[in-house]
Amino acid sequence: MTSVDNDNDLWMTALGEMETKVPKPIFETWLKFPKTRGKFFSETVFIIEAQDAFISEYLETRMYSVISETLQKLIKKEVEIKFNVFGVAFTLDENSNVKVIKKIENLGVQINDQYTFDNFVLGPSNELVHAASLSVSENPGKSFNPLMIYSEVGLGKTHLLHAIANKLHEQNFNFYYLTCEDFTNEYIKSIRTNSTEKFRNKYRSIDALLLDDIQFLMGKEQTQEGFFHTFNALHLNKKQIVITSDRPISGLKLLEDRITSRLSGGLVVDIQFPDLETRLDILKQKALIKNVVVDDEIIGFIANRVYHNIREMEGALNKVLAITELTGIKPDIQAAEELLGAPDELEVFSDPDEIIAQVSKYFQVDIEDLRGKSREQKYTTPRQIAMFILREDSKINLNSIGKLFGGRDHSTVLHAIRRVQTDAATNPNLRRDLLSLRSSIINRG
Ligand code: ADP
Ligand code: MG
Repeated sequence: MTSVDNDNDLWMTALGEMETKVPKPIFETWLKFPKTRGKFFSETVFIIEAQDAFISEYLETRMYSVISETLQKLIKKEVEIKFNVFGVAFTLDENSNVKVIKKIENLGVQINDQYTFDNFVLGPSNELVHAASLSVSENPGKSFNPLMIYSEVGLGKTHLLHAIANKLHEQNFNFYYLTCEDFTNEYIKSIRTNSTEKFRNKYRSIDALLLDDIQFLMGKEQTQEGFFHTFNALHLNKKQIVITSDRPISGLKLLEDRITSRLSGGLVVDIQFPDLETRLDILKQKALIKNVVVDDEIIGFIANRVYHNIREMEGALNKVLAITELTGIKPDIQAAEELLGAPDELEVFSDPDEIIAQVSKYFQVDIEDLRGKSREQKYTTPRQIAMFILREDSKINLNSIGKLFGGRDHSTVLHAIRRVQTDAATNPNLRRDLLSLRSSIINRG
């Protein structure tokens, strides 16, 4: 068996030949790429995928001989031609008969057509992950493989995975999207029913595997085994793999080491907490999708309230919009406040001492040294990071931060914070440190 690409290359050549033989309207209606696509080529069989059952039927009944002659001329031997509908997974039995398994889209979870790249708002917190996701969806298996996306919950991992799925679908690639929970259930079932062969075959015809929430596999050794083999088979055949996780690879320690090292072999990108401007843009865009007009004041009120989870922020917006729907009255700030609570009541700002304690623990430096005067880098870097997180998450002012660090003045603090900001833009390790630190601080708070 050759790879999918070569099969399609051959088919593209065949299409070129047929374009000169077949009347133009017929060619354009029934044959032209991407209406058809070379899918699979073995010694004896060539499978052509058609955009829908109608085309597949037409080709089989009306154009079989043209196609078969053209292909035979190109590959200089006789092959049987089979037609399959795009998105339908198939296997070949011992006699090379195509056996349809089930429609691909129904194999996995339904893809949300609102979760597209177009609907994904960009900001400094997610530009990198967006670029990487777009790249793998345009060149599956060819740019970064595997691509692993991680972030805290509610920051857009599933959205991006669906966006990749939607984009792949647009280009007629086959994919399989599922959560690791579904993967586990399927795998366990295949073992129970002695159908691991069928389980494996299902993955044979896809161009990309999109697996959501890999942390679900932690501690499930048997499924990890199945995952490892599926992963290897796909990777070996240059099929795209995209995986999301709600913790960094190092936090997935429970996964077998060989899996961890496979995951690290590709590209790992994270999504950070969105800044205020991005949160505002996201809210505006969500309102736009719902086709409702919301005052900027209300949008600002909501964006300022919720910090670490876009899903929650969206929930707040929906709550406010529900009033409009129920009462027909456009909510003002008071109404929104009544509904969602005043900002001060709800915002939980992290405790400065807790932040300092966590940073000290994370970098394994004494709190005294962290607060102290030493200019050794092993202290200055954690100190700058602590100042940065204090500013972001505790909302105390620069002078107060300075006081916590042996009475440094506010410009020194500002300098430290700026330094972390600039470094974070280019240093993924620093971003990773910030993400783990801030999430461990929040989870305690
Ligand atoms: P996760 O999988 O990381 O828990 P989701 O992908 O489910 O998060 O995102 C939660 C919600 O936030 C979804 O409704 C999603 O559309 C929205 N969201 C997250 N990031 C963005 C973004 N950059 N632009 C628009 N919507 C976003
Ligand atoms: Mg998710």
